Amino acid sequence: MTEKINQLKKLLEQPKQISIVIHRNPDGDAIGSGLALRKFLINKGHRVDLISPNPVPDYLRWMPGTKDIIVYDDEPEKVSEILNNSELIFTLDFNDLSRVGTLLEEVLKKLDDKTFVMIDHHLNPKDYAKFTFSDDKKSSTSEMVYDFITELGSKNDIDKDMATNLFTGIMTDTGSFKFPNTTSHTMRVAGELMDKGAENNKIQVKIYDSFSRNKMKLLGKTINKMIFIPEYKTAYMVLTKNNLKKYKYRKGDTEGFVNYGLALKAANFAVLFLENEDGTVRISFRSKGDFPANEFAKRYFNGGGHLNAAGGRTNENIETAVEKFLEKLPEFYKDYTNNNV
Ligand code: 5GP
Ligand code: MN
Repeated sequence: MTEKINQLKKLLEQPKQISIVIHRNPDGDAIGSGLALRKFLINKGHRVDLISPNPVPDYLRWMPGTKDIIVYDDEPEKVSEILNNSELIFTLDFNDLSRVGTLLEEVLKKLDDKTFVMIDHHLNPKDYAKFTFSDDKKSSTSEMVYDFITELGSKNDIDKDMATNLFTGIMTDTGSFKFPNTTSHTMRVAGELMDKGAENNKIQVKIYDSFSRNKMKLLGKTINKMIFIPEYKTAYMVLTKNNLKKYKYRKGDTEGFVNYGLALKAANFAVLFLENEDGTVRISFRSKGDFPANEFAKRYFNGGGHLNAAGGRTNENIETAVEKFLEKLPEFYKDYTNNNV
């Protein structure tokens, strides 16, 4: 056992007041790893609160335990008080405090006397935690939480709910075990979680075969308007506020849309522009092979992420964002083909 795990194990021997914080716009991995770790720590006798900066999207509400998640945007004072009373703060599925949003980031930054534990699989971790478990080779934070519990010697404490949550996190972050982040270890963990009660088919159906009619129509519209640029093996899609309104958009409805760009055999890079209510733009990037989606996001759109899955944003309007993208793509592609990225 590593020294780090040993020290944490000691810390966890006495009942503690613990907070778990996940990133803004939480996905299946953030919520799955958070819920599983929460239940694990509660069963060990701790008092544990799971904090999300903003609400759980509708398509993940079925995950066991989501009703116990405390949302910062809904109850900022309560969350500040909880954090101030915590002895131990786990941060899951992010490695930079800015990922929780400006206001909650300010609260967390003031807690520098607390013991932070980071469990995360993104690149370039910031140095805010006393215990940093960071591994960008891992498929997901959920896989890491499984490994963490295993290293603590408590694998047998993983029950059906925890298995369901961890399985969901691994499955959603690997695109159903398809993305290149899926290792043989990932598959073994998923298998063990099935042995502990995670129901693969049921979970897959809940996540992937649960579109509303409006979401299906919105997807149809988005794919219809997809533009493919053969020269740069790039497919991009644009979703304006008006499109979203027309199809009664609900948060999470566009989850997975960007992947349809990569379904094109000839595409290596897929991009989705999503206009927010306030006119700012969120951009999702996906790639095949060694095309660095994260570098593109970082260089031009204030973002980052993994090699094959990244995100970014801009305060410019959506037309300007698309123009900038089209202007920068040739230069980036050239750098990529010359091994300069
Ligand atoms: P999505 O397109 O699903 O929002 O994000 C794809 C991936 O990129 C996720 O793994 C997410 O964590 C990461 N990501 C999204 N936005 C950012 C960002 O601004 N910075 C970094 N470092 N990663 C991001
Ligand atoms: Mn993740």
